[in-house]
Amino acid sequence: MKSDNQGYTVLARKYRPQTFEEVVGQKHVTETLQNAIRQKRVGQGYLFIGTRGVGKTTIARILAKALNCLSGDEPVPVPCCACENCNSISDGSFLDVIEIDGASNRGIEEIRRLRDSVAIAPVSGRFKIYIIDEVHMLTREAFNALLKTLEEPPPHVKFFFATTEPHKIPATILSRVQKFELKRINWNDLLSYVEKIAKNEKVKIDKAAITVVAKAGSGSVRDALSVLDQVIALSGDKVSEDVVIGLLGWTDQEVFVNLNNAIVGQEVEKALDVVRRVIEKGSDPEQFILGMLQFLRNVMVANSVTNPETIIEESPEFIDLLKKAAKNYSFEQLIYSIDILMELIPRLEATEAKQTALELAVMKLIHARKKVSIDDIFARLESLENGPQAEGREQRTEDRGQKTEDKGQKAEGREQRAEEEKKESIKESIEKFKNDIKSETESKKEKKEKKQEVSKEELIEKSKEDPGVKTALELFPGSEVVDVVE
Ligand SMILES: [Zn+2]
Repeated sequence: MKSDNQGYTVLARKYRPQTFEEVVGQKHVTETLQNAIRQKRVGQGYLFIGTRGVGKTTIARILAKALNCLSGDEPVPVPCCACENCNSISDGSFLDVIEIDGASNRGIEEIRRLRDSVAIAPVSGRFKIYIIDEVHMLTREAFNALLKTLEEPPPHVKFFFATTEPHKIPATILSRVQKFELKRINWNDLLSYVEKIAKNEKVKIDKAAITVVAKAGSGSVRDALSVLDQVIALSGDKVSEDVVIGLLGWTDQEVFVNLNNAIVGQEVEKALDVVRRVIEKGSDPEQFILGMLQFLRNVMVANSVTNPETIIEESPEFIDLLKKAAKNYSFEQLIYSIDILMELIPRLEATEAKQTALELAVMKLIHARKKVSIDDIFARLESLENGPQAEGREQRTEDRGQKTEDKGQKAEGREQRAEEEKKESIKESIEKFKNDIKSETESKKEKKEKKQEVSKEELIEKSKEDPGVKTALELFPGSEVVDVVE
């Protein structure tokens, strides 16, 4: 096994899966390939589609081994990983497995060379295998040249392509290969995988720290192991959550929980104190806002779905906490709050006053808690109209009605009139409320239009009456007139 000059092999390479069974989270692909081998129905061209670090070229290499393994007289579903062919494919020295990086060999010349070599029989393997990574990077001419070979490849040749962007591959190529879509690794799979590797490496790492490592991997085994490499390098064989969070430049979840509590409790001082401490600690304001955004997004998910654990990448304990937090928000309040943070991101990049920008956002979030949607108000008014109070009154009227029918009827009539008057007045207030909102929106619009219409000429005209404006114009004769009229 190759290692760097300090004798340390990066984990992603050390633990690169050698058999189909070792591949994490892609059973739907590996099992299909193994069945194809058992049934002697292995195709000539395969395309592995998926985001980075999900195992595309790893699976292609294992398939190359399975086809060339010497443990049997023909391809085996489980390569032995001990024979000469298996070993040399693993260490990249096997002459009949040709790996090409599509990004740096994208021209027609490279594909022509490939075409010429295709005709030559394999040196020591059963099959000559071309693995082209990032195949979508090939030029149109290169694809055309490749197509001819793909149409009628010699029986000893197989093509395994890998891509992150299948839509850039011509349909003529796509129709000649069997496609496999690899999944982004499920968070729980990634979590237990990182745990297993850490145990293997004899690293003491608590569950909270593993959770952060798995989260940082965001669906990629390679990325998760790369983070694990870095934290081990930083803290040796005992890894804590703080170290991982510090390394990633993230902010501790506890900070977001505290901030959220302050917002929900309308505690301005406490909320601003969270911001102050984040800035003082030298945390990245953008990362902080992205973290808070993620927190509120999770609260929103917890608020709106039955099984949030299938969507939220957090521990069960933390999901419980999110569920509790969700009870303090209406759906509208959450959407409004998330919007506030989304708007802040581009602004934050543009300003030097980052602390002020963060404080402003926090104040807006606190204010957002007071927002009640018009729908809510209407719903409440309607429930007043038809609510339990009205029912109760009817009930009482009935009871009284039993005493003397005559009196009862009179009472009923009175109650009904009172009821109708009340309904009428509620309806009126709803109408008035609607009109108020409408006229306010219109007057705002008018004001805005008016504001744009004030021209320099008008101001000069105005200056005849207003000496203040006149003086300003005389003092700065060449200057633009800036509209400050509200
Ligand atoms: Zn073998």
